[in-house]
Amino acid sequence: MNVGKCMSYLRTTCRLCKSTDMIKFLSLGKTPLANSYLKPEELKIPEPSYPLETYFCQDCGLVQLLDIIPGEVLFRNYLYISSTAPSYIEHFTKYAQDIVKRFDLTDESFVIEFGSNDGILLKPLKNLGIKTLGVDPAENIAKIAESDGIETFVDFFTEDNAKIILEKYGPADIITSANVFAHIDDLDDVLRGVSVLLKDDGIFVAEATYMVNMLEKKYFDLIYHEHVSYYCIRPLQRFFEKFDMEIFDVEDISTAGGSIRVYAKRKIGKHNITESVSNHLALENRLKMDQAVTYKNYGNEIEKCKNEIMKLLLQLKDDGKTIVGYGAAAKGNTLLNYFGIGTDILDYVVDIAEIKHGLFTPGKHIPILPTEKIDEDNPDYVLILAWNFADDIMKKHEQYRTNGGKFIIPLPEIDIK
Ligand SMILES: [Zn+2]
Repeated sequence: MNVGKCMSYLRTTCRLCKSTDMIKFLSLGKTPLANSYLKPEELKIPEPSYPLETYFCQDCGLVQLLDIIPGEVLFRNYLYISSTAPSYIEHFTKYAQDIVKRFDLTDESFVIEFGSNDGILLKPLKNLGIKTLGVDPAENIAKIAESDGIETFVDFFTEDNAKIILEKYGPADIITSANVFAHIDDLDDVLRGVSVLLKDDGIFVAEATYMVNMLEKKYFDLIYHEHVSYYCIRPLQRFFEKFDMEIFDVEDISTAGGSIRVYAKRKIGKHNITESVSNHLALENRLKMDQAVTYKNYGNEIEKCKNEIMKLLLQLKDDGKTIVGYGAAAKGNTLLNYFGIGTDILDYVVDIAEIKHGLFTPGKHIPILPTEKIDEDNPDYVLILAWNFADDIMKKHEQYRTNGGKFIIPLPEIDIK
């Protein structure tokens, strides 16, 4: 990715409520973009880096980044392909089956997904006979979706594009997005687009990492420039209100270390509001998710984790052990850069995505190799950077453990298996 000329901009107001009453609670330093993998010839060129500072809005409670990298830079040529993770394929196939059943979708129904990536959700929906349209700005990945028969509108989901889509395809029964809502700076534009396109009885579904889980399980490494918001239900509820919409259901789902799937509708829509909404609000109250002190304590805990993991890794290196990393994902790069783990500790990082092989991690410049390398080399330890796939990974590499190798799972507590 060419980010040499990329400029970030600094927001001064809360993304949802526009308040200026925000406090900084976790500073991860200046880091390169977590998905800006480097080619060998780029290693000597100065690497742009940007502040990674986390703020809490004392008015509506949204946790967010204010240093924003334009979406044009981050998402036009995207390297993250959803279908490379087997558990994601399973997750989205089940989601497709669930919404068809729950909302009585038929071959007359129309589902739009923005941030549709390679069609990981729309493919199973299409197989169930539903009319679908993907919306995604990444030209390279949209091509993959198109070649699999998933029609894709190649651009960002905005009010203007919603009008074009409405004209061409008509209104939608469901507009859905998974792990995209956290990526977008101008959410007002998105919600105006949803208002344009959604049928009166339509449903808007957004899947995002739940700030409660990030807090309880210490998943700080989901913080990187692409993720500009970290959600609780309360700030979202207030936000939807602005567009005459309301949240009517919240599901807890297991992706990305624990996410929420939020179902919203127009206020005039018929769906009943389920208890899960008030249950989540009560949980957030209990955990004081609306108070600054909660986040200040969180920042301190993350600092403690960093010290513990570094102590372990440096001890292993002192003992002459070999260590490699597993999963050159964006969140792994937050961890590597914030903790300061470089090639002095990890010989290399392996990753399942072929597209990353031969590249180097941003910031720490660790080479990325195919996963088979582990079975060839039998390093003493494999540090799992993609901890949310730890079970998949260990299952896939049983032979490595049989041969005496050990996995280190760094979060939420250090676990060696
Ligand atoms: Zn706010």
